[in-house]
Amino acid sequence: MNLAMILDMVAEGMPERVLIGDKRDGLTAAAVRAKAIAGAERVQAAGADRLVHLGPNGPGFPLALFSAVFAGVPFLPVNYRLSEDQLGDILSRSDNPLVVTDTPERVAGGTVLGLDEFLALSPSDSESAAAHTVDPDSVAVLLMTSGTTAAPKSAVLRHRNLASYLFGSVEFASAEPDDATLVSVPPYHIAAVANILSNLYAGRRIVYLDRFTAPGWLDLVAGQGITHAMVVPTMLVRIVGELKSRGTRGPASLRSISYGGAKISAAIVEDALRLLPSAGFVNAYGLTETASSVAVLGPEDHREALAATDPAVRARLGSVGRALPSVEIEVHDEDGKPVEPGVVGEIVVRGPQVSGEYVEKGTQVRPDGWFPTRDQGYLDEEGYLFVRGRADDTIIRGGENIAPAEIEEVLAGHPAVLDCVVAGIPDIEWGHRIGAFIVLRQGETAEPDVLRTWVRERLRGSKTPEEIVFVDELPTSATGKVLRRELIAAHQAAHGQKSR
Ligand code: ATP
Repeated sequence: MNLAMILDMVAEGMPERVLIGDKRDGLTAAAVRAKAIAGAERVQAAGADRLVHLGPNGPGFPLALFSAVFAGVPFLPVNYRLSEDQLGDILSRSDNPLVVTDTPERVAGGTVLGLDEFLALSPSDSESAAAHTVDPDSVAVLLMTSGTTAAPKSAVLRHRNLASYLFGSVEFASAEPDDATLVSVPPYHIAAVANILSNLYAGRRIVYLDRFTAPGWLDLVAGQGITHAMVVPTMLVRIVGELKSRGTRGPASLRSISYGGAKISAAIVEDALRLLPSAGFVNAYGLTETASSVAVLGPEDHREALAATDPAVRARLGSVGRALPSVEIEVHDEDGKPVEPGVVGEIVVRGPQVSGEYVEKGTQVRPDGWFPTRDQGYLDEEGYLFVRGRADDTIIRGGENIAPAEIEEVLAGHPAVLDCVVAGIPDIEWGHRIGAFIVLRQGETAEPDVLRTWVRERLRGSKTPEEIVFVDELPTSATGKVLRRELIAAHQAAHGQKSR
């Protein structure tokens, strides 16, 4: 199965269903397909070897994705916030890209197609770009990893990886005619690709919010009768904050909110469950390299955990749920052997949706089929996965390896703490000092020494944060990842590198 066949099926099964935009004048399934074929013809006419999307969140993104799919070339969505150098570097990696963009002046080389012109392409009824000719083993999407922990790499996702995700995921019950999903995740991330595929396949209309603000999101949800939404944790934090300051609950049309892409504090999830009571919540865990979600904590799990008195069940609000049916997840030790439940190790993933392949480094899947995620975590007795964080974020203090998550969990248990991040601050004597960056709950105060004692009483002294820094908000990337490097750099700039 290739992705073009998926759009063929939808366009044949429900040609008049509006799939993109406003219900009254949006694009129907038949129109999406015909416009994608017109886009594919442009790719073919230009002899392009890939289709690059460089632009805002909007209808151009799914149309460009399917134009590439029908043309049988890789789709490469690029972050419009990149510098000219980074952009030039990415574009130079291809011989002849066709670039669909709202900023043509930024593109040197290849063939440029203005976004407006692209959107206005007349639908094509030609069958020159036929779905059945696209090889399921060919590359469907290239995604640049965000480079949170390393230099960006191009992750390779083949048609079969994304089709496996689509068919293996539990979220794809077909949609009601009035269903609509709000997409506000950035148009260069795996979540945006996965969202399009899953919603279009279900026949659910997609509405775009280009620049996220909590009031803008809430107004659009209410105005468009949005039933489904996907957000990154930062967005959920802001939505919760906005509802609190308005003193209201969220729009009642919402039936499902999925969040993921980064760790979220259980306190925020609890607030969100109370303030958005009409919605079922889904926490989705996945990586670019695994073609999106591989584990989910579903609505029933959320409800059960919130109502539980058993601490082990309650703790599941902090987990990312269980592996999807077509995916296997294990936790391995340093020798690549599975560990017992409750023991922390590296999360590894196996299954047909897992690519684990990069243009620059080839496949990173081990010969035994497992893909090492570089995430640390553990499974409980029931198979619920707890993500502890990236191995690369490990603090090495005086030779001792310290997982920030362990300290973050303890700090998050303090009644005054809303959210926090623990990171290693470079130190000449110790290698790292432990820094805790803390967002307090509204109206709460806490002395650094009180928080230090709180940690010391629950963990060893060597895990007590030396630096406690109060911040209004944690800096995050557009995809919700806390920018540890930014926190550390700002702290160092303010205090210098202490040698103590
Ligand atoms: P890199 O940092 O290597 O450049 P990236 O930040 O672009 O890559 P992504 O594929 O966007 O990488 O993110 C995957 C990572 O996000 C996972 O490995 C995990 O650390 C984190 N993550 C994803 N979903 C969740 C979740 N639901 N809960 C906690 N962490 C998550």
